[in-house]
Amino acid sequence: MVTATSSTDALVTIDRVHAARDLADDAGVDLLVLTPGSDLRYLSGYNAHAMERLTALAVPRSGEPFLVVPRLEAPMVDAGPAGGLGLEVLAWDETDDPFALLAGAATARLGTAPVRVGVGARTWAEHALGVQRALPGSALELASPVLDRLRMVKSAAEIEELAAAGAAIDRVHARMGEWLRVGRTEAEVGADIAAAILAEGHVGVDFTIVGSGPNGASPHHELSGRTIGAGDLVVVDIGGETATGYRSDCTRTYVVGGAADAEVAEWYAVLRAAQEAATAAVRPGVTAQEIDAAARTVIDDAGWGEHFIHRTGHGIGLDTHEAPYIVAGNDLPLVPGIAFSVEPGIYLAGRCGARIEDIVVCTEDGVRTLNDGPRELAELAG
Ligand code: ZN
Ligand code: ZN
Repeated sequence: MVTATSSTDALVTIDRVHAARDLADDAGVDLLVLTPGSDLRYLSGYNAHAMERLTALAVPRSGEPFLVVPRLEAPMVDAGPAGGLGLEVLAWDETDDPFALLAGAATARLGTAPVRVGVGARTWAEHALGVQRALPGSALELASPVLDRLRMVKSAAEIEELAAAGAAIDRVHARMGEWLRVGRTEAEVGADIAAAILAEGHVGVDFTIVGSGPNGASPHHELSGRTIGAGDLVVVDIGGETATGYRSDCTRTYVVGGAADAEVAEWYAVLRAAQEAATAAVRPGVTAQEIDAAARTVIDDAGWGEHFIHRTGHGIGLDTHEAPYIVAGNDLPLVPGIAFSVEPGIYLAGRCGARIEDIVVCTEDGVRTLNDGPRELAELAG
């Protein structure tokens, strides 16, 4: 298990925010504004609570970055990881206009009012529009091209956080036979899984998908009151958040209280081959869309292509879904440190589905898999 303070200290350095400034400058973006969420946490270590009062990290393309925070939260910021980075904190009082404070400080650093302003992709509209109002000559755009480029490529410390998260979720899957039984509802199984995710050291449960029988054909089905029957195929896709904010996400498919019939066994073997092919294709220089194609080609060639209805994967880090997306049209070449899911699925509407998902990391010479539990269709006694 990881602890918040020791690991965060090693994970977040002032270099990150300076790297963001350099990338913004290269891209001609005058100012980045990041509000509570994973971008802010990534750059400053500050895991701020999102609310109506403005908290923002402002990164002008020249000069020092600064934090704008409500006065009542300033002591907490100073005492936390962001304070340790030495970022200037501009505290605002309840009757101040925090957007004017941010705009004025950014303009002073730049020597002129910023024109191109990049805001976080998941910044609340009221905050983005507040920035726009305070800088009437500016045009807002997404900060994603800068932030994604940084966040996509994980440091060695981040990879170890993801590996620890992966090992924890693997231990939860290893216990599935205790909970996934004939006669229990998906919701009952999901509650047990959620408790186990926390018991394994995660601080939050992001999702517990237990898709039994026909519900397995809906990839993002979560939980229902459906009772699991003998011989049901059950898709279990689970993940959560560790103390340092890094995420787990792993899918296995089970057969409960029976054996898979011959047709299921046949297409499950195709799915497994597809997942293996995509994983084996991972190495520097291969593009995201080539990883998608590696999985899709196996399923297409076997005649099941119309039943693989989603992209092959997504990046993972402080968010469960982040860049890069492993999908046709994404010609981003992989580089060492890029972490993402490989999760092909086959879904038969009204009947059942299956998915196999691991988190993988591109290494100098290939791939490292961060989930290592068995990938065959596991038959649980039920
Ligand atoms: Zn998943
Ligand atoms: Zn996933």
